[in-house]
Amino acid sequence: MAALEMFDLTGKRALVTGSSRGIGLALAKGLSEAGAMIVLNGRDRTKLEQVASEFSGPAPAILDFDVTDPEASRAAIDRFEQEAGPIDILVNNAGMQHRAPLEDFPVDQFDRLMRTNINAAFYVGQAVARHMIARQKGRIINICSVMSALARPSIAPYTASKGAIANLTKGMAIDWAKHGINVNGIAPGYFKTELNAALVADEDFSAWLERRTPLGRWAEVEELVGAAVFLSSAASSFVTGQVIYVDGGITASV
Ligand code: NDP
Repeated sequence: MAALEMFDLTGKRALVTGSSRGIGLALAKGLSEAGAMIVLNGRDRTKLEQVASEFSGPAPAILDFDVTDPEASRAAIDRFEQEAGPIDILVNNAGMQHRAPLEDFPVDQFDRLMRTNINAAFYVGQAVARHMIARQKGRIINICSVMSALARPSIAPYTASKGAIANLTKGMAIDWAKHGINVNGIAPGYFKTELNAALVADEDFSAWLERRTPLGRWAEVEELVGAAVFLSSAASSFVTGQVIYVDGGITASV
């Protein structure tokens, strides 16, 4: 296979959870540009219909379900596989943040954050993997974070959830390698999305971030597309259980 052909996703179908905005939407558009058919997900169907109209290639399918609901996730995926066809690539991207000092962190927010950032990757991953196992092939990408490796004040539960998803990536990779499923993670640094709105608005934080990041700036969501296409494609056929940090060098430096 010629080098660039290895990255071609023509004929593949990718479900990206949490793709109504931010990183998920950028990854969905990038995978679409690489040739994949896209299945958008989020909780708001109207919003998903609106973003679907922005795609330049074939119109994406829409699968609105709440990833924290295991029955709803399974039902939506099983129905889609039966009626529309196989999901070849799954990107577990949906996630949330909640900031509070750990001693005051509300229990209900801790539970909601864990269900969204880690339980959901298991629910959706298991539902999709059962179909991939039947076909003996598939790709799963879990969106991790620099917080898979590091901590910062006021986000201890997020840090715990992102540490867990990095290790779930290894667990999924090891359990499902024998079924021809490659599972890897992408760990983004700091990207200007709604999830980070409080940080984007904080000039002191931006100044600190620019000093702390070896490449010296916030990142653009499109800068995650290369890693996602690589991990979705034949180019990464022997890569599994790995987490690629796309963080401008943050985790490489003290
Ligand atoms: P945003 O808040 O911009 O987007 C989150 C997306 O997840 C939305 O599309 C939202 O859709 C969806 N979502 C949230 N909860 C659910 C749910 N229960 N069911 C279905 N969809 C849901 O976040 P980002 O784009 O910034 O983050 C995306 C991922 O990247 C997250 O896992 C985050 O932890 C990770 N990340 C982000 C970084 C950054 O710098 N931004 C850095 C490192 C990691 P809707 O509300 O319409 O349902």
